[in-house]
Amino acid sequence: MSDLRELYQEVILGHSKSPRNFGKLEGATHTGVGFNPLCGDKIHLQIRVRDGVIEALRFEGSGCAISTASASLMTEALQGKTVAEAEALFKKFHEMVTTPMGQPIDDAALNKLTVFSGVREFPVRVKCATLAWHTLHNAVSETSETAKTE
Ligand code: ZN
Repeated sequence: MSDLRELYQEVILGHSKSPRNFGKLEGATHTGVGFNPLCGDKIHLQIRVRDGVIEALRFEGSGCAISTASASLMTEALQGKTVAEAEALFKKFHEMVTTPMGQPIDDAALNKLTVFSGVREFPVRVKCATLAWHTLHNAVSETSETAKTE
């Protein structure tokens, strides 16, 4: 179990140091802005959707390792998915990080995103891990409000 935890930390650190899909996106159809006041994490998400499919998504912003890694892994996970699939994954992800420690999580559906299962121990970190997802949800729901972590 501690090996697994180390592996998870490595994945999170790797993504926070060199985030994937970082930068501006050409021809974005949806944008979202997220802010987590508890930690100071900021994210600006740009998405290009065609016929209900997420063709590309990129993000900019600054924040802690968890929020940056979460945004990076989210953009990887959602490329090529439908908006409905993305929303379903957000629900699963949210369920995972709010499931009490010691209870099983649906790791088959979440795949690589299970690296964030450890944040369950740290309620403040849950907000860092879900910021990108809340921002995505707002962007595809076309609300213009800034996503806040509750
Ligand atoms: Zn944070």
